[in-house]
Amino acid sequence: MPRPCGPCGDKQRNELDRRLLEMELSGETFRVISREFGYHVDALRRHKEHHLIVDLSEVQRAKLEARDRVLAEAQAKELEQTKADVAEGMAARLENAANFLDQLKEVRNKAATLLELAEEAEDLRAAGTFLKELREQIRLWAELEGKLAANPPQVSITLNAEWIELRTRIVTAMDPYPEAKEAMIRAIRGK
Ligand SMILES: [Zn+2]
Repeated sequence: MPRPCGPCGDKQRNELDRRLLEMELSGETFRVISREFGYHVDALRRHKEHHLIVDLSEVQRAKLEARDRVLAEAQAKELEQTKADVAEGMAARLENAANFLDQLKEVRNKAATLLELAEEAEDLRAAGTFLKELREQIRLWAELEGKLAANPPQVSITLNAEWIELRTRIVTAMDPYPEAKEAMIRAIRGK
């Protein structure tokens, strides 16, 4: 069992270590430090080589670990932020989809009302193309709603394209019926 190291337990160890580390710069010798601190030159040499340098490398390691930890924390934070961004985007898309569903229901109801009105007016021959188109749209809307209800996440992206196409088709189909077209456009806009 080696003897405990005197310099390690010295009350002025910080000062002693500093002097040992700065020897190359200050030009001090082990002998000078030995006289001042009262330790044998060999004890000082051993302390410097085996304890001081080891301590320094531990300090260095601790510093590197701290740096790694900071890096890891920064990465984790970035990941959290990314997750938050994705969640936000998802929430926005879901909200869009919900808004779209409300809009869709509204438009379909208005279209159904228009259809009833047209049929009540008994001008079926004149309105024939329009009514046919309107029935088809109502069928497609119902289908789309059914799809949405059955499978909400997947259709939210195709939703917009389908919606725009339907909207364009019905508005175009209403060209010969300006009044009905205007009413439908108002319904689509939700006003
Ligand atoms: Zn020591």
